[in-house]
Amino acid sequence: MLDKISKNNLFNSIENIKGIGPKTLLLFQKLCGNRVIDLLLTIPRNFKRRKHLVEITNKHLKEEVAIEVSVEKHLPQFNPKMPYKILCKNNDVEIEIIFFRGYVKYLKKILPTGEKRIICGKLEKLGNKFQIIHPENISPLEELPYLHGLLSLYSLTRGLTMTVYRKSISYALEKLIDVPEWINDEVIQKNNWRSWKESVELIHKPKELNEEKIKKLRERLAFDEAMSHYIKLLITKEKIEKNICHKIKVNKEIKKEIISKIPFDLTESQLKVINEIELDLKKEIPMLRLLQGDVGSGKTIVALITLANVLKTKIQVALMVPTEILAIQHYNYFCDLFKDIEIKTVLLTSKIKKNEKEKIYKQIEDGTAQVIIGTHAIFQRNILFKKLGYIIIDEQHRFGVHQKFQLSAKGSNPHILVMTATPIPRTLALTMYGNMNISKINELPINRKKIETITIPSNKISKIINSLKNIIKEKLNAFWICPLIEDSEKLDLTAATNRYEKLKKKFGNNVGIIHGKMDIEEKKKVIKKFKSKEILILVSTTIIEVGIDVPDATVMIIEESNRFGLSQLHQLRGRVGRSDKKSKCVLVYKENNLNEFSKKRIETIKNNHDGFKIAEEDLKLRGFGEILGTRQSGFQLFKIVDPLTDTKIMEDALKEAKIIFKNRKTMKKLDKDVINLFLRIYNQSSSTKYISIA
Ligand code: ADP
Ligand code: MG
Repeated sequence: MLDKISKNNLFNSIENIKGIGPKTLLLFQKLCGNRVIDLLLTIPRNFKRRKHLVEITNKHLKEEVAIEVSVEKHLPQFNPKMPYKILCKNNDVEIEIIFFRGYVKYLKKILPTGEKRIICGKLEKLGNKFQIIHPENISPLEELPYLHGLLSLYSLTRGLTMTVYRKSISYALEKLIDVPEWINDEVIQKNNWRSWKESVELIHKPKELNEEKIKKLRERLAFDEAMSHYIKLLITKEKIEKNICHKIKVNKEIKKEIISKIPFDLTESQLKVINEIELDLKKEIPMLRLLQGDVGSGKTIVALITLANVLKTKIQVALMVPTEILAIQHYNYFCDLFKDIEIKTVLLTSKIKKNEKEKIYKQIEDGTAQVIIGTHAIFQRNILFKKLGYIIIDEQHRFGVHQKFQLSAKGSNPHILVMTATPIPRTLALTMYGNMNISKINELPINRKKIETITIPSNKISKIINSLKNIIKEKLNAFWICPLIEDSEKLDLTAATNRYEKLKKKFGNNVGIIHGKMDIEEKKKVIKKFKSKEILILVSTTIIEVGIDVPDATVMIIEESNRFGLSQLHQLRGRVGRSDKKSKCVLVYKENNLNEFSKKRIETIKNNHDGFKIAEEDLKLRGFGEILGTRQSGFQLFKIVDPLTDTKIMEDALKEAKIIFKNRKTMKKLDKDVINLFLRIYNQSSSTKYISIA
């Protein structure tokens, strides 16, 4: 049986699913992963009911419906500001489909006169006329089966529609097969869980909207995911510990030199963690350590001091960060700090020109480049390091699911330091990372003043703009954050470019802009100008969210702040208040966009400054109406598990994983095969060979 399962198309690429062409494939890969099974293990975020109405009647007003209509006529629109109406008929009853905005050409294409379509949306009535405003779906008749009943809602990405998603899921579900149970009977019974196959099937297509039952299904799948994660961790950890790495001797002189150069005293906490890291570096077993410290606690200098220990050796170090801007910043800081020491430092990001890249690859391979700073581009190609001894990963929580542990494969068993500002409670971090060692910076530098956080409705924005005069007068820096770079048709967001133009009119060349689409040289220039105060007001998208350090930045303005998550706001606010100057964070919101929930969130961020406290409050606030729970954007380690709410499940899964790991050598062959199948199913990345327990 297992033989047959292992050849099953569940493990095939999702491109084998009917209807998934090359374009859709990319979108699905981004959302779910490569394999059919990865699609099935990306579960709905919520559900809703929609009724198939054979005949329109008053009885179903205000309900979500799917109806078959024939398109009669596109009504003339005399003024483009007026709503655009399309007259349709269901049997003999007239219904108008209404759009307040939209391209006429496009609407004519999707609703051609004389044809039949299924329209989905909320049935309304104005006077004696039925209408549906901005229908959710306009689909061909044959799609009806996917358009009504109890419908699963998935997280989408631009270009992927819910109907295509559901269809693909339906198709993938046909491939689903029975598998032998891998969870211990006792655990299954105690929790009253269903079999794996049933759980997957029912979570996508529940028979009834029963919160308790759906919760149970999700719980089982979360348990599976956590258990597979732990087994993998245990295997990896064992492998790492068996390895011998480059011992890195602590170089007291260099350390002294750096400390004499920096314009501040290190905090007790910083000194303590530097010490902890150095004790590990001296060992023959590779270090695997998590360094936690709230935004602004001074993690960078800790990284650089520990990194400096290799400078007089032939050992290479890599510093990896999640964004290009942060890479540039660390690179500049590093070069500046070590400008008297002869050392080859390279900056490597994916946007660097090809021939330049080739040159850098060579330098890494022959060992001339000793310090490599960059984004995940550092580890994307099969670059062979000459003698990689130490990897530092900054702001780890921003990286994707499987990037972390693949790293160690690239060098000769390097020491690994992972730095994060995400406030994961210690016990949770322990469960998330198995028995990874943890260091913590638990104080901010003493010179800091509390950041004043204020809120202001968007119709008073001119007041804020006026107050920026002070920034210019005092020659300080201000950030202005906008949610999106280009006007999106769907979301009426203030675009950064528009804001930039407006501010420029008032403040001229004091205003600059930075966003993700700029190339690396442009970004470099802007950051340099901002730091050297050629630019004082920097309009930006959220790309500066993590890590950016401009000590004289004292004002942070966040437009449509209600669109951001709490941890995001905390990170953004952390860009100011980085010196002894008094700083301010202004949360701008659109008054009519604010519900109870948004209000509470804004209050939370206003009243709290400690990342831990904010994460806790976040947890209390979440769960509004979402059956399956929202997933904290900060934790990308899992697809199903929510580390903040699934602590119990994770603890149980860890216990079981340890038992399996311990017994793996004495296990019967059949049991072993079952566990390996399980690991293969949950190993979301098909690019690496799946891990097995032998
Ligand atoms: P994060 O922990 O968020 O990465 P950074 O390392 O970027 O924080 O440090 C924030 C700012 O604080 C930087 O400008 C840094 O130079 C400064 N800094 C770091 N340590 C200290 C200290 N002990 N005293 C004063 N300022 C410090
Ligand atoms: Mg940082």
